[in-house]
Amino acid sequence: MNSLEAMACARESEHCMQPAEAFSLIGDETRVKILEALWNADETPLRFSALYDRVPIDTSPQFNYHLDRLTGQFVRKTDAGYELRTAGENVVRAIVAGSFTAHPRLEPFETGDECTRCGEVLTASYEDEQLAVTCRSCGRTHGEYAFPPGGLLDRSRNEVLDAFNQRVRHLHCLAKDGVCPECSGRMRTELVREGGCCLDTDLRVEYVCEQCRHSLCSTVGIALLDQSSLVAFYRDHGIDVGTVPYWQLNWCVSDDSTTVRSTDPWRLDMSIPLGDEVLEFTLDGKLSVIESQRRESCPG
Ligand SMILES: [Zn+2]
Ligand SMILES: [Zn+2]
Repeated sequence: MNSLEAMACARESEHCMQPAEAFSLIGDETRVKILEALWNADETPLRFSALYDRVPIDTSPQFNYHLDRLTGQFVRKTDAGYELRTAGENVVRAIVAGSFTAHPRLEPFETGDECTRCGEVLTASYEDEQLAVTCRSCGRTHGEYAFPPGGLLDRSRNEVLDAFNQRVRHLHCLAKDGVCPECSGRMRTELVREGGCCLDTDLRVEYVCEQCRHSLCSTVGIALLDQSSLVAFYRDHGIDVGTVPYWQLNWCVSDDSTTVRSTDPWRLDMSIPLGDEVLEFTLDGKLSVIESQRRESCPG
């Protein structure tokens, strides 16, 4: 059994279902409406009649047929009625996130934040479900990452940027900890010394999931954003680093603070200046902190 088949073989299900069979089951509008009705119900399980009332369909046998097809893999039938299984929830969640249906556009707009290199105002743009923060003046990219279209709904531009900032931080820290943000499979960390991706760096981190092949690229800096010593360092300088857009931290969008000490084994030094102090990290090839220290910055 490959990993996709293993995924389709829901833990609670009585038999293993092939992915094609699972997808074909939800390739029908009525079935999607049934899943959505269960998702939108204030309380589940829902009795048959209550569920039937919530789905626009002409005849009861037709409804019965579609519900029957969903039951087992996507819907659970109990004595108290019908409720969504995790697989059913995931289908509705993907619809809500907009990946299947919506193609909202967002015209490029100025973020109000300054470029870490030249100081001009950064531009945010959205295309193909990717949000990018870029300097149109000097060309420095400040990261381009997936942002599901559902994240644009009911949000102002500033709120979109806030949500994007939080999403990138959390997904990257999760990936660094070895957990795939898409499927929770094992994620491999690799350091790559060449440019050419969405980052303006020569050294980048590549995370690849061994199970679903989801990949993310990152600067070394972003991987440090959840380090307690870093959070404390900023707090001592009066800054809640958790709320600062990562693209406003030069060490998160450039190589400027990173020094490669050796490649076999990997040893990296990071030095993060703030006010009259510097926070220094030594990292291994998996970006685990081997050492960290704070010192006063050298005068001049
Ligand atoms: Zn610039
Ligand atoms: Zn994965």
